[in-house]
Amino acid sequence: MTNHAARPVPGFPTHGHRGGLVSLKVWCRWCCEWHTHSHEGYAAGHVTHRVAHCRTPGNPNLVPNPPYPVSEGYWIEVQAAPFSEVEKLVKESTTAQRRAMARQGYEPTDAVRRLRAQRLVQQDTRWTVVHDE
Ligand SMILES: [Zn+2]
Repeated sequence: MTNHAARPVPGFPTHGHRGGLVSLKVWCRWCCEWHTHSHEGYAAGHVTHRVAHCRTPGNPNLVPNPPYPVSEGYWIEVQAAPFSEVEKLVKESTTAQRRAMARQGYEPTDAVRRLRAQRLVQQDTRWTVVHDE
């Protein structure tokens, strides 16, 4: 038993045209983008383990203190709130920033540090974003 399940990242369901569950979106604080995982019809509250879809799987030392070790993936806690409710709360990295991040020895810029500081939290029933130091 690892201790990752104690601090899972939130996963938000997307729905298809007919209302069926399509995928699970996870905000990645490393890549500063939404990663997409398959949704297996989980109920809200279910915790599932996935390999993180980060762009730098061969370089786990790219970022000091990443939110989760790339090689170990992450635990996702399925949320009741749909992706559409939280999608615009966070600001995503640009294509140029993502390309830069994937390079060996990348040093994050202040802009990327600010993007990585974004953390989704639930306060009462609403989701919001807070900015860590
Ligand atoms: Zn990532």
